[in-house]
Amino acid sequence: MVDVIIGLQRGDEGKGRFVDMLSETHDIVARFNGGNNAGHTVVLPDGRDLALHLVPSGIAHPHAMNIIGNGTLINPVKLNEEIADIRSKGINVSRDNLKISSAAHLILPHHIYDDEIRESGKGGQGSTKAGIAQVSSYKAMRTGLRIEIIKNNLKKLETIIFESLIAQQPIRKAVGLPDIDEKEVTGIYIKNAKLLVEFITDTVFYLNQELRKPKPARVLAEGAQAFLLDIDHGMYPYTSSSSTTSGGVSTGLGVPPSYIDKVYGVAKAIQSHVGGGPFVTEITDEKLLKQLHGDMRTIDAEKGTTTGRVRRLGFFDLPQIRRAQMVNGEEDKQTMALSKLDWVQRFGEKIPICVAYERNGKILEIAPDAAYKLQQSTPQYEYLPNWQEDIREIRKFDKLPINAQKYIEYIEKKTGVTISMIGVGPQRDQVIIR
Ligand code: GDP
Ligand code: MG
Repeated sequence: MVDVIIGLQRGDEGKGRFVDMLSETHDIVARFNGGNNAGHTVVLPDGRDLALHLVPSGIAHPHAMNIIGNGTLINPVKLNEEIADIRSKGINVSRDNLKISSAAHLILPHHIYDDEIRESGKGGQGSTKAGIAQVSSYKAMRTGLRIEIIKNNLKKLETIIFESLIAQQPIRKAVGLPDIDEKEVTGIYIKNAKLLVEFITDTVFYLNQELRKPKPARVLAEGAQAFLLDIDHGMYPYTSSSSTTSGGVSTGLGVPPSYIDKVYGVAKAIQSHVGGGPFVTEITDEKLLKQLHGDMRTIDAEKGTTTGRVRRLGFFDLPQIRRAQMVNGEEDKQTMALSKLDWVQRFGEKIPICVAYERNGKILEIAPDAAYKLQQSTPQYEYLPNWQEDIREIRKFDKLPINAQKYIEYIEKKTGVTISMIGVGPQRDQVIIR
């Protein structure tokens, strides 16, 4: 069976640390969407942290096989940097614990420059300039290159990269981007591409074989980004280019929908966002923001793992969570993981929770389906009593302050989904399991 872990909000919910935890009970951990624009922070048993972008979080677990699925987008230069970083922490990375789908698409150098060109002009969308939107559009236009080309026609790959960069030169010049050495860029790319050969295989076949064995493998599908960034269901056009919901697991890994078992939706008690787009419950009070952000040097500081940008913060938003849960799974197969419960006391006396939106005189319990509608929505708040105890060392639900228990139960009641894992700190063991 395939269990799925996905973000219910706007990304950076803390999926990485829960994937890391669930990896212990799964044989295979697989990424089904996105590229190296995503970022996870996991804390290793010895306390060091490991930043992951495309490699599944299962890599920190010796027993786990890790799959980079067909739905992902790969930049060999970045992937090799990531692999080198993982190895530098003493973790083995080889074909014995990492496989890359032959059908995954390659992010090529001119996609990245394309991204820079777009971001330098009026059409900029606050992209991470990783070439993700570009490679996705080439894929849809059927002019993309799948990673298997590294194995079967490296010469062709080299020619396409070089010629595309030459063709792009006048546009780069026109927008004032610095000159590049096309030959050098191509050379570096090809050198890195070759290093990936050992990992490339038909992962769709592999996964389906493993799922159909007499003792079927337990697969954990690890989602990047989050519901509001889904290309179809998010706040288009302020989205990523991929499918971030449980439906994306089927297409992004090639496993039948009927194999999907549990869906773990991760939400953060204080949601955050990087980049543009509507944010109904955004916190704008400078004093409160300072109070919430706290020390920006800690591992759990709200700044991007990939970009370093300070994240926007918002109150817990039930209408938005309900919509995400509605799309992601049946209530009885779905559970929630809530991170950063330890941050809630930073609110002070009362905890504001958005329970509904008001839009054009109507009260909405479930968020509407478009960015402009979100922009027209006003949040309706209820206030729960806060607690002042430090909860970071607590590991049992019934040991939590009564107001913290009530807060959790309130969210459960309002969503109809149980909260099975609660983060009370960024460290591996700072979790309450119910
Ligand atoms: P992901 O993209 O969803 O995997 O999340 P990120 O790792 O990018 O961002 C989540 C941030 O919250 C990281 O800095 C984590 O260390 C931190 N974090 C996750 N869970 C908790 C928690 O329960 N408490 C605290 N204080 N920090 C957490
Ligand atoms: Mg992240």
